[in-house]
Amino acid sequence: MTVTEITEFLNAHDIKPSYQRIKVYECLINQGNHMTVESIYRELIATIPTLSKTTIYNTLKIFEDHHILNVINLNGNEMRYDLILDEHGHFQCKICQEIFDFPIQEPRIQIEQINGFKIEERNVFLKGICKDCLEKQ
Ligand SMILES: [Zn+2]
Ligand SMILES: [Zn+2]
Repeated sequence: MTVTEITEFLNAHDIKPSYQRIKVYECLINQGNHMTVESIYRELIATIPTLSKTTIYNTLKIFEDHHILNVINLNGNEMRYDLILDEHGHFQCKICQEIFDFPIQEPRIQIEQINGFKIEERNVFLKGICKDCLEKQ
């Protein structure tokens, strides 16, 4: 996506396309999925020395509120930002820490035990060692 396309995309989702917002979104696209506030900060601070982590966090919150990304919380306190909006599973490699997406079909969950509950989050999260790291061992 070019800067012009990002600007149009943000406008189309009622998000005022400020320079910092465009940069944050561009960073998510270019650096790959599942970034953290920290990793976005490290990536952008050279280009935007005035940038703060609070600004990044607030920007991502606006993106979330306007449904252009999902927030996923895989390891308790680490929020990651996911541009893929369709439900999918995650695999995290415990050696390289990389997170991989994979498609899932409607999981066959026996739901009677929580019948009447309101489900607000569903995660399929697998941990292990990815193929590359296995081959290096
Ligand atoms: Zn790995
Ligand atoms: Zn994902």
